[in-house]
Amino acid sequence: MSQKPEDFFKNIISHCKEYGYIFPSSEIYDGLSAVYDYGQYGAELKKNLREYWWKSMVQMHGNIVGIDSAIFMHPTIWKASGHVDAFNDPLIDNKDSKKRYRADVLIEEHVAKIEDKINKEVEKAAKRFENFDETMFRSTNARVKEYQDKIDAINLRFKTALNDNNLDEVKQIIVDCEIVDPISGSRNWTDVRQFNLMFSTSMGALSEEGNTIYLRPETAQGIFVNYLNVQKTGRMKIPFGIAQTGKAFRNEIVARQFIFRMREFEQMEMQYFVKPGTEMQWYEYWKTARLKWHNSLGLGTDNYRYHDHIKLAHYANAACDIEFKFPFGFKELEGIHSRTDFDLKQHEQFSGKKLQYFDPEENKSYVPYVVETSVGLDRLFLSVLSAGFKEEALEGGDTRTVLSLPPALAPIKCAVFPLVKKDGLPELAEKIVAELKFDHNVIMDEKDTVGKRYRRQDAIGTPYCITVDHQSLEDQTVTIRDRDTMKQDRVKISDLAKILDEKVSWKSLLKQL
Ligand code: ATP
Repeated sequence: MSQKPEDFFKNIISHCKEYGYIFPSSEIYDGLSAVYDYGQYGAELKKNLREYWWKSMVQMHGNIVGIDSAIFMHPTIWKASGHVDAFNDPLIDNKDSKKRYRADVLIEEHVAKIEDKINKEVEKAAKRFENFDETMFRSTNARVKEYQDKIDAINLRFKTALNDNNLDEVKQIIVDCEIVDPISGSRNWTDVRQFNLMFSTSMGALSEEGNTIYLRPETAQGIFVNYLNVQKTGRMKIPFGIAQTGKAFRNEIVARQFIFRMREFEQMEMQYFVKPGTEMQWYEYWKTARLKWHNSLGLGTDNYRYHDHIKLAHYANAACDIEFKFPFGFKELEGIHSRTDFDLKQHEQFSGKKLQYFDPEENKSYVPYVVETSVGLDRLFLSVLSAGFKEEALEGGDTRTVLSLPPALAPIKCAVFPLVKKDGLPELAEKIVAELKFDHNVIMDEKDTVGKRYRRQDAIGTPYCITVDHQSLEDQTVTIRDRDTMKQDRVKISDLAKILDEKVSWKSLLKQL
């Protein structure tokens, strides 16, 4: 059923709350801005996504290992990495609405609107393809060119302004593009200022200046400072990777898009250490590999696109995002960065310790280059939910809400229903659950009519439902119903474990990589 994107997004958010996926943090105290808690099903889905990522990075690659470093780190690490001085976002306020925005996001959204105009022109032309004459072709072409020139000019100005750290120019771009505040509709903007995104706290009993430590804004630095420990103890040979998942914290200026932009979130990062000079080849490799990984989830290849960065972070010599088509448009899901030897060199300099690798083939030591893949677990969660959430019209005027999650990742793999609560059917259902639960998250559901039970499991995203009926007592068979097709098959109870294994195993996902 088609609905406006903003309504669709609102429905996902309320569905998450109603079905135990995501709750606002500290809800009984009216919540805490941009912080969320994962409920009983959300925690399972998140765990499964994390596990799928971990298996595909660590288990599937002989030369990638995983670590789990602490959130608290020596404060000098953040000085060395550049985060104390440069982990800033440019912010701007609208004086009428008193709302705060990221200046870069305002400009990017303005550019996206012009891109939309180009897409509309192309769509219009395609529709009139049959009787498209020379004049129409020329005028469409001219309009597309005009829009494209505008985009290129804004991007170039913006890139130069950011590179020169020229915040007055960033404001001037907003003024020249006549960008208005979506709330007040006014162009009454303050100057642009830089805002550091790191949260700080103090360690130990005394809160003196020297005790200030930061909540890590990325997990990557925990990998860099352990790189030599892992390389030596694991006898790793270049190229090799270190993976890690964990919490990261950023004091985001604008945090209004549910779990897309949170102040406490989880990252899944892998740093790949390579020989200097080979980094671009590995950068291309990981760009392709990561898109393939996302596509293995089956959310639709059209939902992804690459976006090359126009302004490179201080540490990078190439960078791109894999963007996903969220309900509010294409936005970053994962970043792939060629980080050069910046981080390791900085840590050598600030710690005074050598962080070199002895290459037996080259017979020399060097500081490795690094290619990073960094995906936000919460954004990944949102991508799976927004592609899977459907409100379907059924025959007979009925509707159902269904979460078509990849079966291997679903919180509950299978629900077992006794048709009625008597005649020995609950006992047989219990027996089936007891058998299957060693390998899968399986539940018993015996409340309400079978139809209502199907709706409940569809809404949670359970891919299979087994119904135990009177025939089951006679011939030891049950029906198994597929969430997406709603088709039911009668199968032997003795085959259930094998059937379920095939349908929900990690292998079905991992084999596609
Ligand atoms: P954005 O431009 O959206 O602020 P970023 O470029 O700062 O993101 P990175 O530093 O590349 O993000 O972080 C890697 C990944 O971590 C992102 O691709 C995203 O999936 C995730 N991430 C970053 N910030 C947040 C956040 N505030 N909430 C949830 N996930 C985040």
